[in-house]
Amino acid sequence: MLFSIRPYERKIFELIREAGKELNYPVYVVGGYVRDRIIGRDSKDLDIVCLGNGIELAKHLATKLRPIPRIAVYSRFGTAMIKHQSIEIEFVGARKESYRHDSRKPIVEEGSLEDDQNRRDFTINALAVSLNDENYGEIIDPFGGLFHLEDKTIKTPLDPGATFSDDPLRMLRAIRFAAQLDFEIEADTYLALSKFKNRLGIISKERITGELMKIMATPKPSVGFKLLFDTGILEIIFPELHRLYGVELRNGIAHKDNFYHTLQVLDNICPHTENIWLRWAALLHDIAKPPTKRFNDKVGWTFHGHEALGGIMVPKIFKKMKLPLDHKMKYVQKLVRLHLRPISLTNENITDSAIRRLLFDAGDDIEDLMTLCRADITSKNDAKVKRYLKNYEIVQQKLKEVEEKDHIRNWQPPITGDLIMETFGLKPGREVGVLKTAIREAILDGDINNEYSAAFDFLLEKAKEIGLQPVN
Ligand code: ATP
Repeated sequence: MLFSIRPYERKIFELIREAGKELNYPVYVVGGYVRDRIIGRDSKDLDIVCLGNGIELAKHLATKLRPIPRIAVYSRFGTAMIKHQSIEIEFVGARKESYRHDSRKPIVEEGSLEDDQNRRDFTINALAVSLNDENYGEIIDPFGGLFHLEDKTIKTPLDPGATFSDDPLRMLRAIRFAAQLDFEIEADTYLALSKFKNRLGIISKERITGELMKIMATPKPSVGFKLLFDTGILEIIFPELHRLYGVELRNGIAHKDNFYHTLQVLDNICPHTENIWLRWAALLHDIAKPPTKRFNDKVGWTFHGHEALGGIMVPKIFKKMKLPLDHKMKYVQKLVRLHLRPISLTNENITDSAIRRLLFDAGDDIEDLMTLCRADITSKNDAKVKRYLKNYEIVQQKLKEVEEKDHIRNWQPPITGDLIMETFGLKPGREVGVLKTAIREAILDGDINNEYSAAFDFLLEKAKEIGLQPVN
């Protein structure tokens, strides 16, 4: 079968053909690019395999391009990369890989196109398009990848056990592609996932997290997480999430399954945000439910404090998974910590002071918090859902009114620590903090107005109570 070359590809494919021919290297487009183009998915990176030296091919091609591009050479891997217009083109010589049991680092040797296709993870990723005179544009498909693209199947080209055992990351890639492309994993390949899952122990956390991030970015991440769960892989790579699974029944009272609830919340939030960290907040919002679960004869199951403990767990999980520990983690932590606050503002007790506190604590992330709260409604009872949504509308309206009136979102109290020190001749210390907090609390509670002179009078009064006098 012929690959239908698009007008925008014609020029660059032609130049690669010419460069290969001049060096006497047969050249092929391979892997994800071919797959994505055939199924009509956005394709970015172009991978070129040649029977020869990939770096030499890149250098030779570069002389034909205008403007002449910079070449990134990775001699350790024998690869080179050129950025041309908006695409990245990667060049490598065809290779043969063999693995030892105790390492995921293969022994790499020069190989034929067939060797190169054999080392690829799935049949749909092993397709190659010839850019050579004798069969220009022909799709070389040794493992039925074209059929599997049609049939929406993920299948390893060789024995799945050997493929997964050689590089266990491929197990996560199988699940990630199933989730991303909405494909099914073929039966033997699927069985091998459970069988070889423990091999994931030799894979670095960074690579595992890289695949999780891709699953998180799909429109319906529950698909990927359910596969991870059903194959037993989740328990190995993300035990905290796995622990949410299960329903316990006592005195005829059951609690909901927090794993499936969490996945539902995650799916619910996806149409509303591409922000991967808001998605992470959805995934982690109830993460501390298992360690806080209690049964009480009067009220049934409780998870008191799960939001606070969840906030404590977030940095630990991020650290373990090698996720960033900067403001992104803090953002997720904040949302997890605050996710119950809007719910607690029921109709009757929405006071301005409670609203001001929420605005102060959430700051600019208040809208994201409300998005998370709305996604957290997973009840099957329509009347309940309506009631909750209505309640959030009221909270949101109140938030707007109070923010317009008091400007709390990015608010800094009108009295600074420096001013307190100067006024009472203090050095930095506990008293300064006590006074600052007292002023902030009084403003948030509405006891004094949010302006300088009221706050300063309040400061003088409070300072007097703890035996401080202004210095002049
Ligand atoms: P994406 O860009 O969405 O990650 P991709 O298939 O293009 O998908 P890359 O990681 O860019 O993925 O890899 C390019 C090609 O290299 C794949 O299509 C596949 O043929 C091969 N490949 C990548 N990783 C592996 C692996 N761990 N084992 C075997 N082959 C792999």
